[in-house]
Amino acid sequence: MSEILHKDRSEEARLSALQQYDLLDTPPSESFDRITRMASQIFNLPISAVSLTDRDRQWFKSRVGVEHSSIPREQAPCGQVAETTDVLVIPDFKKDACYADSVLGRSGIRFYAGAPLVTREGYGLGALCVLGTEPRAATEAEVAALKDLAAMVMAQIEFQHAFGRIDPLSGLPSRNQFLDDLSDLAAERPDEARLAVLIDLARPEQINAYARVMGLGRIDDLIRDTARGIHRDIGRELKLYHTAATQFAFLAPPGVRQDDYVRQLTDGQREAQQRSITGMLMTSAIGVTVFAPGSTRPQDVLRALYGAVQEARMSPDLVGIYSLAADQAYHRRYRLLQDFGLALLAGDQLRLVFQPRIDLPTGRCIGAEALLRWNHPVLGPVSPSEFVPVIEHSPHAQAMTAFVLETALAQARRWRDAKREIVISVNVSAANLHEMDFAHSVQVALERLGLEPERLELEVTESAIMQDAINARRQLDELAAAGVRLAIDDFGTGYSSLAYLQDLPAHVVKIDRSFVLKLSEGQKEMSLVRSMIGLSHDLGYRVVAEGIETVEAADLLLAMQCDEAQGYFFARPLEVDEFQSWFEDHE
Ligand code: C2E
Ligand code: MG
Ligand code: MG
Repeated sequence: MSEILHKDRSEEARLSALQQYDLLDTPPSESFDRITRMASQIFNLPISAVSLTDRDRQWFKSRVGVEHSSIPREQAPCGQVAETTDVLVIPDFKKDACYADSVLGRSGIRFYAGAPLVTREGYGLGALCVLGTEPRAATEAEVAALKDLAAMVMAQIEFQHAFGRIDPLSGLPSRNQFLDDLSDLAAERPDEARLAVLIDLARPEQINAYARVMGLGRIDDLIRDTARGIHRDIGRELKLYHTAATQFAFLAPPGVRQDDYVRQLTDGQREAQQRSITGMLMTSAIGVTVFAPGSTRPQDVLRALYGAVQEARMSPDLVGIYSLAADQAYHRRYRLLQDFGLALLAGDQLRLVFQPRIDLPTGRCIGAEALLRWNHPVLGPVSPSEFVPVIEHSPHAQAMTAFVLETALAQARRWRDAKREIVISVNVSAANLHEMDFAHSVQVALERLGLEPERLELEVTESAIMQDAINARRQLDELAAAGVRLAIDDFGTGYSSLAYLQDLPAHVVKIDRSFVLKLSEGQKEMSLVRSMIGLSHDLGYRVVAEGIETVEAADLLLAMQCDEAQGYFFARPLEVDEFQSWFEDHE
């Protein structure tokens, strides 16, 4: 029983060795075919093959005189050669007790000679074999030649395997090797926690700048030298891998304490950078992850390291430690970004809701802010405060605003036809103000729907304006000149440069809800809002308070002469039909 178990286990190890060479089911290759041809010539036999012993088939990497690409492993002599790693000669199948009734025996084969393909670790992958339809003997010289040829096949296999495993520039093991070694580690010590480190030498723009000035050859030298330096610093006994052009990875010795090790590394890096004459040009960053080899796939270790290095680039000490939470948040952002394109096309995922705007002195509803809603088919409702910042910085920014504008204006047109006096506010992103023809496209949309520009208000934040002040200003001026109303959204949270605010072509200031929510907290908070209102009035703006949740806040703001209000106290953002019936009660 234990013998069978042992045999199973060593067979599993053999199969896993075979898989690591990535040979099975690959196309034929001349480098193997020429060896097979030579074997068949030496024996003067019509059939020869490089035959690999898979779980239950013999698969031919190279074949002469054989039609099939594989035969069943059962009773195949090459299988025996792989298992025993000994040469096997069958002078006459008909006289051989084991093989007389095998598939080959029954197909008319009478002679077989096979030499094993053995890896450096001693695993038999298969055989180089020759076959004939007449019984015959094999001379010692022929058997020796067959063994030599099998060794040549093996050398070719090892060579192909090594290719892509050594980085030609640094001579260090490559990313493929890193992944393979992680797989081995998973098999050998699945539960021993390990710390992996990725060092990224420079930001891409630094490499580009350096290449532009010094040439690519110098970059190669620099990378080679730095690699040597890193290897010396971390200790030659550790295996350093060259995982991407400017990236190096290694596993810290088992059992190190993460904190100490990372601190040591950071200090070392800083020193190395100061020592280096090119220190000014290259800023390296370090990513770290701790993992259990048996429960983390090699690809995921590398992915965690990439994530950690990117986090490192954003942290002041340039060290990033992989965190599942950050990774999941990143994944979610990435997914939102990917899926938004579909959402724009789907027709049933995006919609607008409308939050009433109230004229404070009269209590009448005079407008509505259009707010985007996304019902993701899998994630469910996603809040705009989560997805808008992601989409705003993506190529979808333009399409998102186009969708909102289009939908909001169509709604405005319906309300106008129903003789409802409602101004619609639409939020605009910084990216929209970067568009050269944004103002123009708004005007085109208004014209197409036959809407007066006064029915539209665009809400822009101060920070959006400041990001590209010159073009933003041009777009805003053009819109204002066309008669579109402009509001400064989230007032008080941005730069609030008064000098700048003073001559913006805006009509409305919307005081951010964070100030309004704190109104009842004390005198200071009240004075702040009172002076914001006063200042805005002095500059000629109409003032809207956002986020009014209580009757007290509404009363206070009315007393401070705030013009308009928006907030849950009056109404939450409403679906179109809800808004309509709400409006009928507040006209
Ligand atoms: P915002 O433009 O400042 O919109 C006001 C936000 O405050 C809305 O959140 C609204 O539901 C919320 N709000 C209104 N009254 C109250 C209140 O009394 N208390 C509290 N706590 N909150 C209140 P929402 O709809 O989640 O939108 C969040 C932000 O997402 C918006 O802030 C805006 O910056 C952005 N956003 C929403 N829709 C769009 C859009 O169509 N385009 C763009 N570019 N951004 C949008
Ligand atoms: Mg807004
Ligand atoms: Mg706001």
